[in-house]
Amino acid sequence: MDEWNNFLDEYKTINSLNYAQRLINFDFETYMPEMGNKWRAEASSIFNVVEKSEFMKLYKKYYNLLERTSDNDFKEGILRLLRREYHYYSSINDNLLLKISKKRIEATQSWVKAKKENRFEYFSDHLNEIIILEKEIADRLGWKNNRYNALLDIYEEGLNVEKADYIFEYVLKNTKIILDKIFSEGLFTENSRLEKIKYNIENMKKLNIEILKIFSIPLERFGIFVSEHPFTTAISYNDVRITTRYYGINFKSSLFSTIHEMGHAIYELQKDKFLEFTPVQGSPSLGIHESQSRFFENIIGKSKYFIENTRNLMERYLKFLRNYNNEEIYYYFNNVKRSLIRVDADEVTYNIHIAIRYFIEKDLMEDKINPKDIPDIWNDMMEKYLGIRPEKHSDGALQDIHWAHGSFGYFPTYTLGNILSSMIYEKGILIKENLKSWNLNALKDYLHFSVHRYGSVYSPERLLKISFGEYYNPEYLIKYIEEKYLK
Ligand code: MG
Repeated sequence: MDEWNNFLDEYKTINSLNYAQRLINFDFETYMPEMGNKWRAEASSIFNVVEKSEFMKLYKKYYNLLERTSDNDFKEGILRLLRREYHYYSSINDNLLLKISKKRIEATQSWVKAKKENRFEYFSDHLNEIIILEKEIADRLGWKNNRYNALLDIYEEGLNVEKADYIFEYVLKNTKIILDKIFSEGLFTENSRLEKIKYNIENMKKLNIEILKIFSIPLERFGIFVSEHPFTTAISYNDVRITTRYYGINFKSSLFSTIHEMGHAIYELQKDKFLEFTPVQGSPSLGIHESQSRFFENIIGKSKYFIENTRNLMERYLKFLRNYNNEEIYYYFNNVKRSLIRVDADEVTYNIHIAIRYFIEKDLMEDKINPKDIPDIWNDMMEKYLGIRPEKHSDGALQDIHWAHGSFGYFPTYTLGNILSSMIYEKGILIKENLKSWNLNALKDYLHFSVHRYGSVYSPERLLKISFGEYYNPEYLIKYIEEKYLK
């Protein structure tokens, strides 16, 4: 099939444009001076338009090939993804594409100011315009039953309000029961003195590298950097980069940011090499990607086995740990709190933060609420579901950047990631045994086998069915949390 090879060869143009975009974004998040933003924004939006036009040209050239079906999974995966992309691009015209990327940059700037000065009104008009644009995108993409479905599907193919409602209602109902017990028993609720202990940043950097080595990260294909919001980017198959943060206090924040991003990186590093530079080199969805980071962060990193096996190493770089036994470290890692900030939330309360943003986004898309009322609605929901009320909007609705980026529909994938990480723990072959015997290579091999190697060949639903026998099932998450926190 020469036609296929020709197509894949020409697809390298699209991939190269993408490659450059990933580098631009990485640079923006790490090294770019503040004033560099104007041209970066300009270049970035032009890249978007050029990429679109190259893609459309290619799609039309190979139209006969791409509109066929294939009984080969790899090819069928490519066809599925390219049709999704074609549908997206043919629904969103150049004008709208440029308008969106311009608005996102302005909105982000106003969000930074609003958050810093704790004034929602600085962001409010921009948010309003973003919401109007998001609705326009959804309407152009087309939807059934609920406008929000079109946006959910961008980040998590196949997700819709019906599925997400079920998941969040189940998780919220059961989380409340679990939290009531945890708070009445008090086991995980005591604040650790370790939170207030300062660490030496250079030593912490060394410790993070040592932890990466324990997980056999191939350092010749990998880099670790610093940014305000930790993230992972696969510039290419052999160039996977993560960032982490160093506040100089409360070392678990740096440690678990590193382990979380390492989980994303392991996914990228363990894909099958032949997917490289093809349209299916990605992952099926954000939920599936997040499951890998949460698996390493929570299920491995916050386990007693992690502490037993890395305690000497941690102590070498963090001398103060000499004064704490393993159990104290375990409670420090797993402390459950009614806290305002999502990124600092523990495993038990985390999904409440996600549910709140999900409910608000859904109501916005259905025109049930006015964007001006968001801060109060947010605070009321925090009080209802978590029992605390933010005093500042920067600790409430303004805390996360996603709305400024126009990422409506993104948030629910965090909870899907948590659910899948617990499904891997409960259903994966020999996971509990290998965790107990600290056989990290076996754990990584299993993840390669069940998730990583496929890239984005399969839709999320299909991959979950193949490897775990069912769709995201929140019962596993609740079971995992109950066993860890109540027994
Ligand atoms: Mg993540």
